[in-house]
Amino acid sequence: MHLKYKIISVIAGLLLSVSIVSSIINYRIDVLSTQDQLKNISLPLSIDNIYTEIQQRIIEPLIVSSLMANDTFLKDWVIYGEKDIKSIQKYLQELQKKYQIFTSFLVSDDTKNYYHSKGIIDKINKNNVEDDWYFNFKKSPDLYEVNLDYNKNLGDSLVMFINYKVKDYANDFIAITGVGIKLLEVEKMLRSFKQKYKYDVYFADENGEIVLFTKELNKRGNISSIEGLKDIQADIFANKINKFEYTYKDNEYLLSTKYIKKLKLYLLVEIDKKEYMEDLNKTFYMNLTISVIVTLLVVLIIIYTINIYQKQLELLADEDSLTGLANRRKFNENFEKMFDLYYRRNLKSLALILIDIDDFKSVNDTFGHLTGDKTLVRFSELLKSEVRKTDILARWGGEEFAILLIDTTKEEAIQIAEKIRVAVKEDVDLHRLLEKQMTISLGLGELTSNDSQDGLILKVDEALYKAKNAGKDQLIII
Ligand code: GH3
Ligand code: MG
Ligand code: MG
Repeated sequence: MHLKYKIISVIAGLLLSVSIVSSIINYRIDVLSTQDQLKNISLPLSIDNIYTEIQQRIIEPLIVSSLMANDTFLKDWVIYGEKDIKSIQKYLQELQKKYQIFTSFLVSDDTKNYYHSKGIIDKINKNNVEDDWYFNFKKSPDLYEVNLDYNKNLGDSLVMFINYKVKDYANDFIAITGVGIKLLEVEKMLRSFKQKYKYDVYFADENGEIVLFTKELNKRGNISSIEGLKDIQADIFANKINKFEYTYKDNEYLLSTKYIKKLKLYLLVEIDKKEYMEDLNKTFYMNLTISVIVTLLVVLIIIYTINIYQKQLELLADEDSLTGLANRRKFNENFEKMFDLYYRRNLKSLALILIDIDDFKSVNDTFGHLTGDKTLVRFSELLKSEVRKTDILARWGGEEFAILLIDTTKEEAIQIAEKIRVAVKEDVDLHRLLEKQMTISLGLGELTSNDSQDGLILKVDEALYKAKNAGKDQLIII
């Protein structure tokens, strides 16, 4: 391979491998830092946001519920036999209006009536699982509780109930009252986390049951029966570690958790590694493509620059790289010197021969460029052997050659030219290369005192042209 192409391939290879390796290293670093950022910052931050949101939403209804539970009107109304339903209905209605609460209620322990701003809507029943909350809370030692529920009666939206125990003046349990507020914002938040950040947010109760989730969540039921999660369940519940990694159905998840005491719920925020890897992979391939394109551009620029320099160097050089003969630039330089000598009468005569190989195009076409080159090299050797050292021999261009014969008369020059013509025709090497005789056409002229340097060249060129037109393989003298 040509040295130039060797160097370019090495540079291209180096550039490409550097850019590929650096893309891969960047990708690896990206993966690690994204993972780290998600695990240690983004997921915990989301948890805190959700927690704060819920917390904020709890305070006001908690105060209202506490007010209701301690209201003497409400207590008395229950104690005195729950007469005049309209008055409790109005009480609940007013409260709802004043605090812009979604629903308010009162359940009497005596009658198990469920009072609502629109009247009695239900009777609490021990055999109805939907009423379990009442009996569970009644049993619990707490004064109030917060329940999150998807309430079907209330439009299947996420509702937070704040249940408060009502006690009579002897501190005996007589009813449960409280308010329910729609957690539209919380719901929206859960959705937006999925849409914006691809996070799944869900809640599990103290038994491990996943109680609140968005429709997109691919897990249902109890944590203890969910692949991957069941192995870390104990740690989640111990609430000492809050960051986890687990595998579910061949997908790896980063998980962050928090126990919300007031709700008695565990909040879980997780992301499927695949989800964020997709973006990173896209960036990786983009980076790779860009660096390959940049490398190619750089290589093209290098090739372009090298070519320009090569051409300039070739122009500056004296020698034709293929044949080792002087080039036209050098020839002209020498010619000028001889021309001066001739003018100062230091030289008696100067003769110029221009030679053009006949039908050289067909050599290339038939045998290829390489044989063409070999032919030119062999022909040059032959020329060198035919002229004296003092004469000036050059590759004029392409398959054209020039010989300036110093102190040579026209007659002597004709002899030399003819000798060359015959020698070429009879050369065995050329014959072997071309599988036939090679012929040349020649133009010859002697410098006269009227001629300029260019004038002589022009005249001899015309002679050469005539030789071609006259059927090639001949010498024309002017
Ligand atoms: P003519 O007898 O009229 O001179 O015909 P020709 O085919 O020799 O003439 P032309 O000048 O059209 O073609 C010269 C050819 O020489 C064309 C070019 O490809 C070829 N040539 C010029 N320099 C080189 C070279 O360095 N190596 C090779 N292999 N071929 C060259
Ligand atoms: Mg030619
Ligand atoms: Mg030719």
